[in-house]
Amino acid sequence: MSFGNRYTGLIHKYRDHLPVSDDTRIISLGEGNTPLIRLKNVPQWLKKDVDIYVKYEGLNPTGSFKDRGMTMAVTKAVEAGSKAIICASTGNTSAAAAAYAARAGIRAFVLIPEGKIAVGKLAQAMMYGAVTLQIRGNFDAGMELVKQVAEHVPVTIVNSINPFRLQGQKTAAFEIIEELGAAPDFHCLPVGNAGNITAHWMGYSEYFERGVVSQRPRMVGYQAAGSAPFMRGGPVAQPETVATAIRIGNPQSWEKAWELQKASQGWFDELTDAEILQAQRLLAMQEGVFCEPASAASLAGAMRDIRSGKIPEGSKVVCTLTGNGLKDPDTAISQCQSAVLETLDASLGEVEKSIVKHMQGL
Ligand SMILES: *Cc1c(COP(=O)(O)O)cnc(C)c1O
Repeated sequence: MSFGNRYTGLIHKYRDHLPVSDDTRIISLGEGNTPLIRLKNVPQWLKKDVDIYVKYEGLNPTGSFKDRGMTMAVTKAVEAGSKAIICASTGNTSAAAAAYAARAGIRAFVLIPEGKIAVGKLAQAMMYGAVTLQIRGNFDAGMELVKQVAEHVPVTIVNSINPFRLQGQKTAAFEIIEELGAAPDFHCLPVGNAGNITAHWMGYSEYFERGVVSQRPRMVGYQAAGSAPFMRGGPVAQPETVATAIRIGNPQSWEKAWELQKASQGWFDELTDAEILQAQRLLAMQEGVFCEPASAASLAGAMRDIRSGKIPEGSKVVCTLTGNGLKDPDTAISQCQSAVLETLDASLGEVEKSIVKHMQGL
């Protein structure tokens, strides 16, 4: 046992790989270092000999991988003397921006689509004290407004077009390589703006170029069918999906994503909302891991491609679970119609009767 090795966030851990100096004041909430959980029951259920790991990014401080990027973006904004940050968001970027701004003592402005963000994310933005601007428009409209307004007022954009975001997010690939001792064969992610898949490829490539690993994974990006510009070959005007975190019609990292798809010999695909929700439920019920709907697109897609053989048996697959299931309790509860939820009198007789009934066949 060694003592006193307190984990203090990904910038401290990976500072040699990140654009910070010894004088940089680091704004951190202990993000990163998330569990890489090996699935036990899903591969059995699939009847396939594959090694599936989920990288549970929902255990970051604000419950999504956005914290990896935000620690860097806010650290650099503060270093540059910025007093305010701004982002458009489907929810998780606004939660992370709000939290790191609070930590840094600066102001956060967040533009969110009215009525289209999960309730937990709205609670976070408000609780952390961001100025929360609900627009009558979708993420893409908000993103355009953010770019325009930042030309008029002194605010730093912390969307993934801010290059420091991807620098922070690439560290997830470092962690995976360090845990597995190699890169996986396939890395599957949900894709919205495609910043995260780009950041992972950067991370894998940096360790590859330094000779830490001899191979990089094939990168696989999954979109929701109603919001799948990479499948349509261009922007989608009115994206729609239950997976609100990837309800994005005009991805900001379009070129980079196509480049890495080709370079890694990976692919993009799309899933229906029903497939996404089924995978979310399966992961919770079979493995005890609760992610938000968008996150489940990675596993839903991987399962389909494993079944079809596109991802062959013997492969090592990592699926990124981008956000925590607790962010979106409404969607979770609405799909648990067949869950066991009984209302009883507060009597020993009734409680015992129910337990005995549900113990049958165990
Ligand atoms: C932001 C986000 C995504 C999409 O990531 P991109 O970098 O925009 O592709 C997916 N899932 C969740 C939960 C997110 O918050």
